[in-house]
Amino acid sequence: MTKVAQVLDEVALYGDHPADRITQGLLRLNTAMRNRAWNWAESAGLTPTQGEILMLLMQRKKPLRLNDIARETALTAATTSDAVSTLEEKGLLEKRRALDDRRALAVKLTPRGRTAAKRAAQWPGFVSGALSALRDDEQTAVYSGLFKLIRELEIRGTMPAHRMCGTCRWFEPANADGARRGTRAKVAKPDSFRCVTLDQALDRSTLRLDCLAYEAGDVGTHARNWKLLKQI
Ligand code: SF4
Repeated sequence: MTKVAQVLDEVALYGDHPADRITQGLLRLNTAMRNRAWNWAESAGLTPTQGEILMLLMQRKKPLRLNDIARETALTAATTSDAVSTLEEKGLLEKRRALDDRRALAVKLTPRGRTAAKRAAQWPGFVSGALSALRDDEQTAVYSGLFKLIRELEIRGTMPAHRMCGTCRWFEPANADGARRGTRAKVAKPDSFRCVTLDQALDRSTLRLDCLAYEAGDVGTHARNWKLLKQI
């Protein structure tokens, strides 16, 4: 088979639309990230899943129930339970009563677990290091594209929900307050937003994917936010 025929064969296999090429790129990135995660986890005496659970607990800053961990990491209940038990045996997690239901159990990081979680949070640094070599406008384009892709996957039910601006009740167009009072132009720039509760301006580069101040909006809010975000 000639080189040209081989390339055409490959194109026929993977597809030749931009979406196909982006998917290929993401798969390559996934391979590199998975390798790094395994290398890091092995050196720390953990599995990537255990590292992910430690990082999740560090980000949430509060005890989480097993079913919350399973939902947020897209793991099965059995895998979550095994990983949590191992982390508890290693002295990195401890079980306690859930704050909102004294009959339920939640897990939290021990001081050793917090140290391990901080180390775990460093392994993806090889990607952010490479991204910093891109121009600012390129970084913004990658981030806003990823943000919309993640939201679309959530809508399709193929990715767990995030505490993101895309579904948050506090997200609105930059001039919504002025427009309500009739003191500013009624048409906002399409990439200019505002967080009501933090009283902060947001744009394509500062939208948040995982936010402690997040409060879930209703279905109408989701639709309104998505309509705004589709324009960026
Ligand atoms: S920054 Fe946080 S609180 Fe504000 S709109 Fe975004 S997710 Fe919601």
